[in-house]
Amino acid sequence: MKKEIQELIEVSQFYGSKKDFVIAGGGNTSYKDDERIYVKASGVSLATIDENGFAVLDRKLMKAISEKTYSENVMERENQIKHDLLNARFNPEKGLRPSVEASLHNLIAFRFVVHTHSTKVNGLMCGNAVEKLTAELFGSEVVYVPYVDPGYILFKEVETRITAFREKTGKEPQIILLQNHGIFVAADTVAEIHSIYNTVIAKLDAFIGEVPEVETLPIDASIVQILPAVRMMLSANGLKTVKVINNLLIQRFISSETEYRKIALPFIPDGIVYCNSSFIYVEFTGDAEALLNDLSGKI
Ligand SMILES: [Zn+2]
Repeated sequence: MKKEIQELIEVSQFYGSKKDFVIAGGGNTSYKDDERIYVKASGVSLATIDENGFAVLDRKLMKAISEKTYSENVMERENQIKHDLLNARFNPEKGLRPSVEASLHNLIAFRFVVHTHSTKVNGLMCGNAVEKLTAELFGSEVVYVPYVDPGYILFKEVETRITAFREKTGKEPQIILLQNHGIFVAADTVAEIHSIYNTVIAKLDAFIGEVPEVETLPIDASIVQILPAVRMMLSANGLKTVKVINNLLIQRFISSETEYRKIALPFIPDGIVYCNSSFIYVEFTGDAEALLNDLSGKI
């Protein structure tokens, strides 16, 4: 195995196994030389990835994707691109599917790219003052990309912003921040990837200050009567496990429907992928039967 691929596996597992950088299957990594790009395939977990988890793509064909005109119809366009990405593989016999984000990795001029949905970065990327704070914290050293749905349009938006950065600074960007999504870090060595991540997180830590422990709160005794019925409602496609938690942070957002609305929609793609695009809110007035009726209807 090439030394660089071993390094790619190590850096992938390193960030993939940290919950504050990657949740479940989110995030991806790549290594490229002039001809090929090795990029994490869809559905492969970074935490446990080995050399069989990377799709190897032809960079000439990847470049052709960025220059080609695709359908105006979103679904049709995404399918055409998926098809072109599959055709760009050097190792189709492995059956690995490159994610749409593979094209983003190919745009970046550095050998290694580590893309994560870091919790702290997303604390900034999902905030109201994101553009202003990003400029204050990172100045002109980063490319900032306002929210665009993942897929071809995002790819084009990132391409435009990288070009603008290059023209303005005469340099290639090493940090790309995506609103309501995450961060791309790029460098020619893995050591530098770590060093950039450390710098970014240190800046955010200094800005965030001390984070108080979230105090766990007791769970209402009546939950014992309700829970078996809730579990059955959620077990239509096979038995599920239901877990109940309560703490000060949750309390704040379930104190009223108005408070709940603030977190009712996902902030980042992971929310949609792993928790669906909306959550259910029901009032509990002390009447278990009313709660179950309400919940059953909403499910
Ligand atoms: Zn992502």
